[in-house]
Amino acid sequence: MNLKYYACVALATFCFLNTSSLEAQSKKKKKRKNADTEAVAQNTKKSKDKSIADFIKSSKEIDGLFKIYQDTINGSLQMIISEDQIGKEFIYFSQISNGVMDAGRIIKGSYRDSKVFKIEKYFNRIDFVTQNTAFYFDPENPLSRSKDANISHGNMASIDITAYDKDKKLYLIKADNLFLGETFSQVKNPSGPGSKPTDFKLGNLDKSKSKILQISNYPENINMEVEYVYSSPYVLNNGSNAVADGRNVSLKVYHSLIAMPENGYEPRFDDPRVGFFTTEMDDKTSASSTPYHDLIHRWNLVKKNPELEISEPVKPITWWIENTTPLEWRETIKAGVLQWNKAFEKAGFKNAMVVKVQPDDATWDAGDIRYNVLRWTSSPNPPFGGYGPSFVNPRTGEILGADIMLEFAHFSNRVFYDKVFELASTTEAFENNENTINDHKFCTLGAELHDEMMFASTVAEAAGATELELVRIKRESMMALIMHEVGHTLGLNHNMKASQLYSPEQLNDPEFIQGKCLTASVMDYAALNVTRDRNKQGQYDDVTVGPYDIWAIQLGYTPFKTEKERQDLLSESTKPEHIFGNDADDMRAPGKAIDPRVNVSDQSNDQIAWGIDRIEMSNDLMKDLKNDFSKTGESYQELRRVYYLLSSQKSSAANAISRFIGGVYVERAMVGQEGAKQPYTPVSFKDQKRAMNALSKYVFAPDAFAAPNDLYNYLAMQRRGFNFRSAPEDPKIHDQVLGYQKSVLSHILHYNTLQRISDSELYGNTYTLSTMMTDLNDAIFKSDINGNVNSFRQNLQLEYTNTLIDMLVGPRSSRYSNLAQSMALYNLKTIKTMTNSGGNISSKAHKQHLRALIDNALKEIK
Ligand SMILES: [Zn+2]
Repeated sequence: MNLKYYACVALATFCFLNTSSLEAQSKKKKKRKNADTEAVAQNTKKSKDKSIADFIKSSKEIDGLFKIYQDTINGSLQMIISEDQIGKEFIYFSQISNGVMDAGRIIKGSYRDSKVFKIEKYFNRIDFVTQNTAFYFDPENPLSRSKDANISHGNMASIDITAYDKDKKLYLIKADNLFLGETFSQVKNPSGPGSKPTDFKLGNLDKSKSKILQISNYPENINMEVEYVYSSPYVLNNGSNAVADGRNVSLKVYHSLIAMPENGYEPRFDDPRVGFFTTEMDDKTSASSTPYHDLIHRWNLVKKNPELEISEPVKPITWWIENTTPLEWRETIKAGVLQWNKAFEKAGFKNAMVVKVQPDDATWDAGDIRYNVLRWTSSPNPPFGGYGPSFVNPRTGEILGADIMLEFAHFSNRVFYDKVFELASTTEAFENNENTINDHKFCTLGAELHDEMMFASTVAEAAGATELELVRIKRESMMALIMHEVGHTLGLNHNMKASQLYSPEQLNDPEFIQGKCLTASVMDYAALNVTRDRNKQGQYDDVTVGPYDIWAIQLGYTPFKTEKERQDLLSESTKPEHIFGNDADDMRAPGKAIDPRVNVSDQSNDQIAWGIDRIEMSNDLMKDLKNDFSKTGESYQELRRVYYLLSSQKSSAANAISRFIGGVYVERAMVGQEGAKQPYTPVSFKDQKRAMNALSKYVFAPDAFAAPNDLYNYLAMQRRGFNFRSAPEDPKIHDQVLGYQKSVLSHILHYNTLQRISDSELYGNTYTLSTMMTDLNDAIFKSDINGNVNSFRQNLQLEYTNTLIDMLVGPRSSRYSNLAQSMALYNLKTIKTMTNSGGNISSKAHKQHLRALIDNALKEIK
């Protein structure tokens, strides 16, 4: 779909509405409308015989898009709807002004709904009706007359008209229910089917306690801040420390009603080769196999001097650094935002991005949608270190506002140890990938970067780095975080394939990497560049935007003269520096997606070599950990933090390596495009085997997780009050190690992975299912099953054997292919033949255990 086409469509809509039959209809409508209006006027006159003035005597007038009257005694609201607003569309948008994590991620600055609603009049009532914007009908196609067939709009509120001014054509309605109820937007999350009675729960909305905190009314929008109070007489769970009283919880919400922009904005359409956020629309009048009319999200950037190759925009994208931001970070933040101007210059714009600082005595706050604010907070349990939401006009995809939330936690040395290891070890990880977060705009880069930054600092510190170097790590990762979050607000989604751009050798060359983005795009969650040879350490993180970012901004913002210009630029998608794959394609969860190059927390075009390097670096550090990270006069909490940090780095590198087994490379070039490759190419035998060998050595081997034994004596948390009351404080080493091993197994033995290995044998995969499963069996048993089996290996062998049994008779067995089940059975029988040999008593007991499990399972199969 091209721009010209869209212009045609708009023109056609106009023509269509001017046909004579419609004219007649509209006359009829007008008549009916007039009759309705008179009926209301008579009604209100008769019953109350009062004018608008009679109802607003004790109220303060707040003029703007919708004139508001607020009673000066009880604060109740009335609102004026003018005749010319009836039948018109408006945009509704809400964001959380303040909240608590306990309420289910209802937190300060998070963006909620953005939708189109229409104001309608029905006799003596005013209706607020949500419009369905999911479908597109070509107005020239007669089918468009049935565009409402089986499509539901949503009537959010129907409010009686209190009074009518016939001369000025104004209606007065009560507005308390509109704003103090959850009319426009559902604020409280419903409790899901898995919720337990002991979970923290919000009570019911108590309108008598809820209140309007602030009303800002402007010609183009009205912004209302409302405090909702959720009350419950008794609670089982009082929530975290962030909640003062679990029975009464306040959530503050901004509601914005916005006039539909009339600025000549030209929508631009999505293409699978580049990653913009989109508003998806189905074209219901297209017979194409891709009937998509998906609008990309972008700002309305227009050249001040269209004749110039590079011009300033009529209205730049202006960012405000919130006055809560520490002074020492303001320059770095500003520099990060302005890096994007490099990309905009290639799209024909000079100074497209402008950064200002919010004055300390500013009378506006970040909730005002007219300001795009880089915010800074330090809140309890933040789910991110940075988050860059934006909201758009759902009719066109035009970005209307954006903010960036930064959390101080990003710079803290807090590691969520127990979370790290619980996450890796949970058995649910096995099937949870179907339930991964569906909010594509949710960004966890801050959390990922935080771990990476701590790892880089640990390596540097252990090598005796100066304070200056440690500050440099923080500064570079801050730049990278800002550029990434700003990228989101420009419409870009993630590019988890970008880290494929450079080789490990190039990343180990400080001169080569100097001044560059370390990947093709700042929109990746790449690992920091940390070299094992400290003499080769160059830049740790991105200091400018990448080549993909520049290309994407060109595609989104260049004022193309012809559709061909855009297509020519799109056809550059096959260049190595324009590689792209987003969250939907990334392989972070077990069994999810298929291309191992699209992943998070990885680096370079050889992730296997990179992963091995990172594991070995962690193992090296582990040797001297106790000396390097115990400080005289301090507790061992710091040592414990670094131990968990290194362990989780090893686990995450191992996961990246495991994705090559059964992997299939994906290409999205169009037919006939220069440099295009076939869409699906299985990973080579050599690389799958390399991955299996690496896992065998670094994840499954008897000594894979060996740390100096006396280290365990020191992994102590510092006591605080009674914090060990709920669980014993000793480090759970075996559970932790098994957790890491399970997270790798859960991918290799996922039904999706095994099915793909068999299928891809038909189109080029030579690492067959039988070879892979034999190799895995060998990796887990061969080296020690004839003798003594250490406690880590006993755990691993039992876990693996139980997984094979589950593939045959477990609750998920029906998801496995016949071929995978046959190999599971074959391996179980092989294991059984190996368990007759000796070893010490512990090993004998272990082998007996294995045999009993297999015997029982074999009986069940019969
Ligand atoms: Zn992100």
